[in-house]
Amino acid sequence: MNEKMNIPFSEFTNMHNEIREEMDAAYRRVMDSSWFIGGSEDTAFEEAFAAYCGAKYCVGCGNGLDALMLILKAYGIGRGDEVIVPSNTYIATALAVSYTGAMPIFVEPELHTYNIDPKKIEEKITDRTKAIMAVHLYGQPAKMDEILAIAEKYRLKVVEDAAQAHGAEYKGKRTGNLGDAAGFSFYPGKNLGALGDAGAVVTNDAHLAEKVRALGNYGSDYKYHHIYMGNNSRLDEMQAAFLSVKLSQLDKWNADRIRTAEQYTAEITNPLVAKPTVMADAKHVFHIYAVRCEKRDALAAFLEEKGIHTNRHYPIPMHMQGAYSFLEIPEGSLPLAEEISKTELSLPMYYGMTQEEIRYVIDAVNAFEG
Ligand SMILES: *Cc1c(COP(=O)(O)O)cnc(C)c1O
Repeated sequence: MNEKMNIPFSEFTNMHNEIREEMDAAYRRVMDSSWFIGGSEDTAFEEAFAAYCGAKYCVGCGNGLDALMLILKAYGIGRGDEVIVPSNTYIATALAVSYTGAMPIFVEPELHTYNIDPKKIEEKITDRTKAIMAVHLYGQPAKMDEILAIAEKYRLKVVEDAAQAHGAEYKGKRTGNLGDAAGFSFYPGKNLGALGDAGAVVTNDAHLAEKVRALGNYGSDYKYHHIYMGNNSRLDEMQAAFLSVKLSQLDKWNADRIRTAEQYTAEITNPLVAKPTVMADAKHVFHIYAVRCEKRDALAAFLEEKGIHTNRHYPIPMHMQGAYSFLEIPEGSLPLAEEISKTELSLPMYYGMTQEEIRYVIDAVNAFEG
C-alpha cells in the first residue's frame, strides 16, 4: 500500500476556505450593526431555510435539543405522556422527550437502514402516546409513509429529528417538510453547521411556529408580556449570518459527500464489512457513513494504525446509559440497538475528500482480515 496518510474523521477547512470572504463579511456586518439577537440576519436565515426545506415557517433556536423539546412543549406534551423514539439514535432525541416530563418509549430499528422499524411501532402505542419522533439517522430519512399512516390512525404528532439530515429527501420532498414539525441542529459537525451551537424548528403549522418562538423567548409574545413559562433559546445574529452563507453551499457539499459514499459503497468489497443501504425513494446525505463489522473494534484499531480516524455512533445505547438507568430496561431487551452499538463504525466523511484519501480508506478497509 501507499505511504501512510493521516485521514481525519471529519474536517472543516475544505468548506471554510471556499467561503472565507463571505464569512468575514458576515462577521463585520453583524459587528457593525450592533444588533446581536433577533434581527434581520435571523429573519433572513429563517426565511431562506424554510424555503430550502419547502416549508412555510422556520424558527431559529439555541440548538437541536431545544428545537425538539420546544416542539413537544408547544404541542402540550408533558408529564404522563409517552413519545415513541427509536432505540438507536443520539441521546438528544430521548432527552428532548424527558425534559418535557414525558416518557420516551424505545422502538427498535431496522438493521439495514438503521432507522426506526415502522412495523414495531404499533405494539408500543398506549392511550398515553402523543407523538412519534422520526429520526433521519446518519442522513437517511425514516420510512415516513408508514410512520404517518400509524400517526393518523392513532392521532399522533410526527416530529422529525432532522439533526443529521439537512437536505435529505424522501419521495422528492426535503426533510423539514415530512411531518408535523422538524427539529434541526446546526452543531458545527452537522451537514449544515454554525460556528457554535444553533438549531431551528421547521413547520407548516403557523400556530406551532408562533408558540415555539414565544417558548424560546421567555414565553413572551410581546415585549415583557409572558404568556408561557418559557426558556431562553434563540438563534443569534452572528450564527444566523454564518448559516446563511453556508446554506448557499449545502447542496454542493452534500453532493460531494454523496459521491464519496457512492465510491465507498462501490469499492469496499470486504465481506467482513456490511455497507449502508439507501432506500429507493430516499436521498441520503451521509452525515455519517456507517458500516457494520462483527470485529468492529479490531477494524477501528487496524484503520487507526494506518492513520485513518473513525468514530462509533453510538457506543452505548440509550437504555444502557446512566441517564436512563431509572427506566430499568435490562440489557438484551433492545437487541438491535445493542447490536448496532457493538458493530457500527463510522468511516471518514467530509467535504472535499481527495481521490487519494478516499482510495486510501477503501484500500485499508479491504485489507482488513479480521
Ligand atoms: C446532534 C443531534 C441532536 C442535537 O442537536 P444539538 O444541536 O447538539 O443539541 C439531536 N438529534 C440527533 C439525531 C443529533 O444527531
